[in-house]
Amino acid sequence: MTPSSIPFFSQAKTFEKIWPELRAGVDEIFADGKFSHSRQVGLLEKALARYTGARHVIGVNSGTDALVLLLKAAGLRPGDRVLVPAYSFVATASSVVLAGGRPVFTDVDPDTYAMRPELITDEAADGARFLLPVHLFCRMADMAALSSCAADRGLTLLEDSAEGIGMRQDGVHAGLHGRGGVLSFFPSKTLGALGDAGAVLTDDPDLADHVAALRHHGRTGRTLAHFPGISNETVHPGHNSKMDDLQAAVLLAKLTVLDEGIRHRAVLARRYDEGLRDVPGVTRLPALTGGPDEVFYVYLIETDRRDELAAHLQDRGIGTETYYPRPLHLQPCFAGLGHRPGDFPAAEAASRRALALPLHSDLTEDEVARVCAAVRAFHTGETSA
Ligand SMILES: *Cc1c(COP(=O)(O)O)cnc(C)c1O
Repeated sequence: MTPSSIPFFSQAKTFEKIWPELRAGVDEIFADGKFSHSRQVGLLEKALARYTGARHVIGVNSGTDALVLLLKAAGLRPGDRVLVPAYSFVATASSVVLAGGRPVFTDVDPDTYAMRPELITDEAADGARFLLPVHLFCRMADMAALSSCAADRGLTLLEDSAEGIGMRQDGVHAGLHGRGGVLSFFPSKTLGALGDAGAVLTDDPDLADHVAALRHHGRTGRTLAHFPGISNETVHPGHNSKMDDLQAAVLLAKLTVLDEGIRHRAVLARRYDEGLRDVPGVTRLPALTGGPDEVFYVYLIETDRRDELAAHLQDRGIGTETYYPRPLHLQPCFAGLGHRPGDFPAAEAASRRALALPLHSDLTEDEVARVCAAVRAFHTGETSA
């Protein structure tokens, strides 16, 4: 019997578990007859505030719009320079452009893929107004170091914590180390909807009000249906970045099993670590902390022969993803910034070498062992696995 395939991502088991809860939420939506920016969204915002410790959570339609609205509400003016890492999902930098600013790239730490103060040159920081570090895959950037860097250089600190649900540093959830951060609920994220959704996190009430207005055509006041005193005054030209109640209901149901899922992924990450630690040719594995802060969104390894390894695994029914195959400074959409290959060596190396292996709530330890065996066989030239 050939072993069944191992998809890169799957969440059937999670949905089995949460189905009654989700069904109840959907029934409520139909009973209310309100499908956008309504009761379930308000309930989700409260639940996320409890989970993250944020004073304010503003639900929106995607992580990308959350970034755009956060940047605008934090006072970004046209042409403002925003320091961002050269290795990230493209939305980190495109959101800056969409908000009217200009991304300024810095290289990343080769182990954590995060921004580091030492990598921010005086030239890059010159005239910059914002610092937008990203927490990628399973590691937060060193926020104590970046906070003092922001203070020294007079920068407003925001976080692209789109991947960061559940991640905490010094007891503070990702997104709450500066003026604000975001979450993405894209389906494959640690807490994923059945489509697009996102949120802004902040402790700052003025920032929260501004984001809440911007997501809803610029209207002020709490315009959620369950808040009395609906306002229909438009103060800023706003976006339509409202969240659907269906997505909120999915996320509310999934939130009840989030920590369980995070613990499961941490166990699997440990199995990967044991299975891959001594494989020749695998040049980097994520560092394990062994602590309760071990929150893996993605398990990312590095190898010299990334594309060949991905094809080898694909032939054996094992799905992988390349995060991210092109560093941001070499994306055509940022060509106007005038960068060339060689400008950010760590970001470029990661883009050539990094491969994400399956990691999700349906995955079993036996399947991780099979993936490890296949990775090992590829690098050692054995053909059995
Ligand atoms: C997913 C992601 C985003 C964008 O979120 P969407 O919900 O897909 O718009 C932004 N930044 C990072 C680092 C991400 O991983």
